[in-house]
Amino acid sequence: MLRCAWCMKKIKEEKQVYSLSVKFAEGKEISDEDGRITHIRLESRNTSVPMIVTGRNSEAKLKGIDGVFPFCSEKCGKKMKDIVSRELATFEAVKDIYIK
Ligand SMILES: [Zn+2]
Repeated sequence: MLRCAWCMKKIKEEKQVYSLSVKFAEGKEISDEDGRITHIRLESRNTSVPMIVTGRNSEAKLKGIDGVFPFCSEKCGKKMKDIVSRELATFEAVKDIYIK
């Protein structure tokens, strides 16, 4: 079961998932397996949040997306975007995308 990367609420399968895709800063590697849910540390929140790792040869990866944060609502996504945009040591870029 997927959890919101901001408020940790469970996200129901049938609901549309609001998400934020990120590209890691150079030298930042995530060693977890493709398509798995991992946890990534946010320095400014002093906590780790769930993130989906994109597959090595996936379409997302080819577009420069290393990971996707899932959210229960757009509101949670916007709060996270604020934080992620400031964590420049970890994230190089952040974009809004909708996935189902
Ligand atoms: Zn949430």
